[in-house]
Amino acid sequence: MSQHDHSGFSRRQLVGGLMGSMATAGSANAAGNGSGAQDQNAAPPLTGKDPRDAYPKPPFERQPQDPPGLASKMVPRPDHGEESYRGSGRLAGRKALITGGDSGIGRAVAIAYAREGADVAINYLPEEESDAQEVIALIQQAGRKAVAIPGDITDEAFCQQLVNEAATQLGGLDILVNNAGRQQYVESITDLTTESFDKTFKTNVYAMFWITKAAMAHLKPGAAIVNTTSVQAGKPSAILLDYAQTKAAIVAFTKGLAKQLAEKGIRVNAVAPGPYWTPLQSSGGQPMEKVMKFGEEAPFGRPGQPAEIAPLYVTLASAESSFTSGQIWCSDGGTGTF
Ligand code: NAD
Ligand code: MG
Repeated sequence: MSQHDHSGFSRRQLVGGLMGSMATAGSANAAGNGSGAQDQNAAPPLTGKDPRDAYPKPPFERQPQDPPGLASKMVPRPDHGEESYRGSGRLAGRKALITGGDSGIGRAVAIAYAREGADVAINYLPEEESDAQEVIALIQQAGRKAVAIPGDITDEAFCQQLVNEAATQLGGLDILVNNAGRQQYVESITDLTTESFDKTFKTNVYAMFWITKAAMAHLKPGAAIVNTTSVQAGKPSAILLDYAQTKAAIVAFTKGLAKQLAEKGIRVNAVAPGPYWTPLQSSGGQPMEKVMKFGEEAPFGRPGQPAEIAPLYVTLASAESSFTSGQIWCSDGGTGTF
């Protein structure tokens, strides 16, 4: 096999350059590749992690939970970057509120933000207190301020209280991550109740509106909002009618709000995850048979782990991305969606 592509760069140079920039960014991928004892002039390793083998693949064991579910009860336990994420000061001194910060993607973002130098407030449901306390401890271990604000975001008054409490305790607010979500599969539209439809919209759409509206009193030029949508916004599953609609609504909200807030110097973007290994799925988000095969349809043949998506949230929140707004960034194991 040739070591050179048509541009004349060797594969070694290209991969080496990539590895260098990943190390600068403090990427989790860089963690296992360097050895402190290495000769400084030695060539960098040829490859990073093979994404196909980097994490567990299906089949997974049967593991039903009641919603909202706990990360601590999942088998295998998700990787939120607890051992791997290395920060490099990209969010130094920033103050972030993350909804659904107790588990899954929100937990991985909370860990990454704290290790990048941000103080972090997390919101979650009271029944998730044990998961949340693990995150609070991790934020504190990173040397940052951690604020825990449990409560139900389907209530508008609580959403206002949440934002004000976060801003008071953090001494301001300049990153808002609207990440909490509800996903309950229903096979037929005739079985989808108004109550369930309403709860999905209240959690995923109304709460994002209420929290963002309340945050406007605190966000200043340079602030960033990062919303969590889904590949479901553009490729809805037959059994997730209500959920997929809410995720499409989040895309439109993100793009419209980005235009509106440009004149205030506030950026608004969203991340669109594909299949990620979190309690959302095993607590009614998918039929258990699908959870046991979760991620098998992704080109990499496995679900993503929350640690693998946190870097997108870091980059979107970081001032380095000062020209990026109104965008949807997808991470789904290789389909090319979005
Ligand atoms: P998760 O279960 O770990 O996180 C969801 C969180 O939402 C919960 O931890 C809970 O704290 C919060 N939440 C739900 N209802 C709430 C309410 N009424 N009040 C307050 N908090 C509430 O699962 P996750 O997969 O990390 O989910 C995070 C986001 O990612 C969600 O918006 C979800 O729709 C989205 N997403 C997940 C996947 C995936 O495959 N896991 C794919 C696409 C999008
Ligand atoms: Mg949770």
